[in-house]
Amino acid sequence: MTFIAQRLSEIRRSLPDNVKLVAVSKYHPLETLQEAYDAGQRCFGESRVQELQVKHDFLPKDIEWHFIGHLQTNKVRYIVPYVSLIHSVDSERLLQVIEKQAARIERTVDCLLEVHVAREDSKYGFTPEECSDFLSRYAPEECPHVRICGIMGMASHTDDDVQVAAEFATLKELFDRLRAGSMGACAYFSVLSMGMSHDYRIAVGQGSTLVRIGTDIFGERQV
Ligand SMILES: *Cc1c(COP(=O)(O)O)cnc(C)c1O
Repeated sequence: MTFIAQRLSEIRRSLPDNVKLVAVSKYHPLETLQEAYDAGQRCFGESRVQELQVKHDFLPKDIEWHFIGHLQTNKVRYIVPYVSLIHSVDSERLLQVIEKQAARIERTVDCLLEVHVAREDSKYGFTPEECSDFLSRYAPEECPHVRICGIMGMASHTDDDVQVAAEFATLKELFDRLRAGSMGACAYFSVLSMGMSHDYRIAVGQGSTLVRIGTDIFGERQV
């Protein structure tokens, strides 16, 4: 068994059945992804459009590609034809562009709204209030080519597990509130994407349904 196969199998075994694993493969070469693919991994996460394009072109077609990085509106059209889930919708404008590009090719694209709860400043993402305001005004029939399937968030980069758990709990609370409220009629609103290598155990404890793990599977990235 290769190192990657072993890591994947350990992580999969540690996750509850209802939690999906995205292998975050950004900055890793094709051979590394192929190794994970050969070990049964079919879902990969990338954060740069050009890199995703190349990997999509060269790797097996049954891979589910997730986009997890900041997405510029002028690059949306390159990934819309095949992306399975965009985790990082951080503005209304971006959502509108995804709708327009998806409509053009008559495809429906699954998206998550990125919600900012960490202590660190971030240029990207909705605050929890902005997210619930937006969704209370949002009419799904106006964007028939996108499906808002849930939310994605990151916790502060800290060793303070209590802080991290509290931030994930804030996301879970928002998720539950939206599911009971404005998104209640959408059966597909079911994804709570939270947890990375250093904090996914905490995220799962707080109700994550999808973890995004890179370093723990592939080792350190060569940036
Ligand atoms: C890079 C990245 C990850 C994975 O990080 P690791 O610490 O390597 O597990 C998860 N989510 C997002 C949004 C990322 O950019």
